[in-house]
Amino acid sequence: MAVNTAVNKALKYDDIVRKFDKYIFDTYTRQPVAIKKACGAVVTDVDGKEYIDCVAGIAVNNVGHCHPAVVGAIKRQVEQLIHVSNLYYTEQQAVLAEGLVNLTGMDRVFFCNSGTEAVEGALKLARKATGKKEFIAAEHAFHGRTRGALSVTHKEKYRKPFEPLAPAVFVPYNDADAIRAAINENTAGVILEPIQGEGGVIIPSDNYLKEVREICDEKNVLLILDEVQTGFGRTGKWFASEHSGIRADIMTTAKAMGGGFPMGSMLARENVASKFVRGDHASTFGGNALACAAAIATIDVIKKEKLVERSEEMGKYLIQKLSTLDKDYVKEIRGKGLMVGMELSVKCEDIVSKARERGILLNCTSESVLRFVPPLTITKEQLDKVVGVLDEI
Ligand SMILES: *Cc1c(COP(=O)(O)O)cnc(C)c1O
Repeated sequence: MAVNTAVNKALKYDDIVRKFDKYIFDTYTRQPVAIKKACGAVVTDVDGKEYIDCVAGIAVNNVGHCHPAVVGAIKRQVEQLIHVSNLYYTEQQAVLAEGLVNLTGMDRVFFCNSGTEAVEGALKLARKATGKKEFIAAEHAFHGRTRGALSVTHKEKYRKPFEPLAPAVFVPYNDADAIRAAINENTAGVILEPIQGEGGVIIPSDNYLKEVREICDEKNVLLILDEVQTGFGRTGKWFASEHSGIRADIMTTAKAMGGGFPMGSMLARENVASKFVRGDHASTFGGNALACAAAIATIDVIKKEKLVERSEEMGKYLIQKLSTLDKDYVKEIRGKGLMVGMELSVKCEDIVSKARERGILLNCTSESVLRFVPPLTITKEQLDKVVGVLDEI
């Protein structure tokens, strides 16, 4: 077979799309843009057109695209060591583990490569630790696409073709009493997003997670918090559970963790973590030296550039700016930090297209919620531009 090394030969948009249509599983609805490069909060397509990125790889590029410190760390690491098996120790994994444990208040970490894997690990750990099989999850929850994570993901369309899944009970989000009522002798744990992301940026009342924590303690079931989307400064705290002042028994992270490099983790408190013994769980790539170097650098940037505080400040600014828009089609604007949703009384796909034509990348979730999860480094001027374009539309 002649191997085409054309990757380096610049392909035109049409050529790229033709190859996608021919060779790639048709599982995504894609925007008609082929992205060539990105820097900070600005993305450039193959025709040289620039966009302000309010999607950030879906809450991934918290430190901005291609942050020089992350790029530098990856470059240095890639020349030294990319991967060895978890049959061995590496310095990078040791350093990152200590950093994460300190940041989260958890005791131990298991490294993986994505959000869904982190959730798989959490569900397996909860089953092993409790000897029970059932989970309680929230309506409109999203926890990933592999079969365990899918079993606690609510959307019928995602689940139906793959049933039977693992046993799960769905209760309304933001209703602690519903969780109390649903817990029975088979319940291993309760899994929740501290703020629902895919569900439409749903923010629970201030004391919801606190009450759930109390119920879980009282009933002796585990609380799993899925911070895959809300982690690493996204909501104006390092992790969104800090807004409620509680700690989970098991916690999951991914998305922003590696500054764009695939990276995930499942963390737990010692009494639970100790129930996983050698051989219970594993991942070939989990915590590989390159991914760990990227994550160490990413966390360092968030600290040095005070991006957690910046997220809070810019989130407030964005919400205030969005509130000045014509209210006719705006039902609600809500958010914490730079995780902001604007619920419309109309479907938002059309607005996403029009914004894209005008140089703004936006994402629509739950059909009518515009989700803003830009890099935490985004400037006021860039946010002004975004809101200005929305006003025009
Ligand atoms: C995105 C997301 C996941 C799944 O992460 P993947 O890396 O796509 O597998 C899980 N949970 C939450 C809350 C998410 O937002």
